Amino acid sequence: MTIEDNARLPHRTALPLAAGRECGGCVVCCEVLPVDDPEFQKPGATLCKHCTSRGCGVYETRPAVCREWFCGWRRVAELPEDLRPDRSGILIMDYKQDPAPSLLHKRYLVAIALRTRDAFLAPPFQKALAHFRKNRVPLWLTANDGSMTLAHPSHDIALALLGQGPEPTPDVAREAEKWRQIYAPL
Ligand code: SF4
Ligand code: SF4
Repeated sequence: MTIEDNARLPHRTALPLAAGRECGGCVVCCEVLPVDDPEFQKPGATLCKHCTSRGCGVYETRPAVCREWFCGWRRVAELPEDLRPDRSGILIMDYKQDPAPSLLHKRYLVAIALRTRDAFLAPPFQKALAHFRKNRVPLWLTANDGSMTLAHPSHDIALALLGQGPEPTPDVAREAEKWRQIYAPL
């Protein structure tokens, strides 16, 4: 799934913004994301014509889509500072789908490696991964090469949640049940 495909997915969540966190010098979303809004259009992988060295050149009158859109790093306070997209090379986007094709698509995150997948191995992302594991957040990885892999939960838990694969072990069944308790009511 490409960045453009991800950007077109509907129903982005409205997680609140993390207090005190600012974009600073990052303009990643102003470059990589396509915008196809009645008010404003731009292609993906192209720096917006309004972007200046000091950020948005039309900040006070920027389109609604720009006022409302923020990446996962701006929304999840627990993510480390150095996971800011321009520093880490990773853009995290949060989604919800209703109806969702599976329990793992009701609320989930997609992490996009903007340059190389090696960014997923770096300490800032590994810290983020630990946070998502602890909090049972479904996390998909992509690198704009069409690949989409599930980083969390593990394969056996995902199969148990999807009702596929072999009979789960008691440990896997217990963990899958904890996921169901969180996501089934959503
Ligand atoms: S990618 Fe995130 S941190 Fe960077 S400019 Fe966009 S919203 Fe701000
Ligand atoms: S209008 Fe401003 S905020 Fe929106 S994409 Fe362009 S530079 Fe970024």
